[in-house]
Amino acid sequence: MVVLNTQNMSNQSAAKKLSTQTFRSSLLSLFVAPRQILRGEQALAESGEAIARLGKRPLIVGGDRTLASFTPQLQAILLPQQLKSAPASYSPDCSEVSLASLRAAANKHQADVIIGIGGGKALDTAKLLAHQCQLPIVTIPTSAATCAAWTALSNIYSEQGAFEYDVALDKCPDLLLLDYSLIQTAPQRTLVAGIGDALAKWYEASVSSGSSPATLIIAAVQQARVLRDILFQKSAAALQEPGGEEWREVVDATVLLAGVIGGLGGAQCRTVAAHAVHNGLTHIPAAHNALHGEKVAYGILVQLRLEEMIQGNQLAASARQQLLKFYSEIGLPQTLDDLGLGHITLAELRQAAEIACGKASDIHRLPFTVVPEQLMAAMVSTTSLVDGNRSPINLASEN
Ligand SMILES: [Zn+2]
Repeated sequence: MVVLNTQNMSNQSAAKKLSTQTFRSSLLSLFVAPRQILRGEQALAESGEAIARLGKRPLIVGGDRTLASFTPQLQAILLPQQLKSAPASYSPDCSEVSLASLRAAANKHQADVIIGIGGGKALDTAKLLAHQCQLPIVTIPTSAATCAAWTALSNIYSEQGAFEYDVALDKCPDLLLLDYSLIQTAPQRTLVAGIGDALAKWYEASVSSGSSPATLIIAAVQQARVLRDILFQKSAAALQEPGGEEWREVVDATVLLAGVIGGLGGAQCRTVAAHAVHNGLTHIPAAHNALHGEKVAYGILVQLRLEEMIQGNQLAASARQQLLKFYSEIGLPQTLDDLGLGHITLAELRQAAEIACGKASDIHRLPFTVVPEQLMAAMVSTTSLVDGNRSPINLASEN
């Protein structure tokens, strides 16, 4: 397998600036990992005692459908431990409005521990609720679509599902329950999306922190490379045999190892353009049918395309071709059309690009300036063939 390093010389000045800043601030606060992880075929069924050590009155936070299907199963685990639980829906989204009503529900139930069950948004909501109420938090992912069960970070969205901002939490979860038989009930598409989200760790961390001299950052970036290589090697086999050995390893990669990178790298090891593109796309209503990791996977291609177009970076061009091949093997989206956005208007595309290029956007961690016109050009040319002599494309000619 070809291993490519997409970072380049011009990253080094940015990294030097970053490392000087790091050197100046001597206090580092890291939340590396959950306090305990229970992982296995029947992790949930065997989690009663571990949950009971954290509290007696759990508030179970999830989406309406998840709560309807898993509350009986959770009750069967909690009741023998004499725990009094209550369910609380986070619908319609991980938003400020939902959090206000969840805080009221936690107070009413006199909750002393929060259990989040579901996908990334359910877990983000539960973690932020626990953070606001200063309560212990248990995360139970029902799919392998993100590493939200691990991280000390929550994303906040509007009631309409548009990304608004992220919140740094004061700890990783107290308990993470990774139950393979539970994850296996999720649609295969969620694991594919999780692979896309996890892949982004390398393409983003190597750009934002690839030249850092700091030991823990080097470790985090190298873990991101290891994560990418595991996914390249095992994803196709994993998807062919859900529940099999390779499948479990890939689930560990997307839910656990992906979390290690943010934990070890901390705020220095941030997202770059792939997630910025995702964040911009969430403002287009038609994009809501695509999963987080699907939009991020497409965003990796856009990021590489920017490096090609603006810097003439040939390594980025080869990395993009390598990813396109991998994406077609496992079914990750390569174009706006694949994301169900084949018919968006130019105005919508511009809006997404302008949001992704906003002042506080992580896209500006790229070692060059990006303006919305360039981003739009990259967004519509993710599958174009490599052509080193080609001058930067313009949008009109690509349509
Ligand atoms: Zn992500």
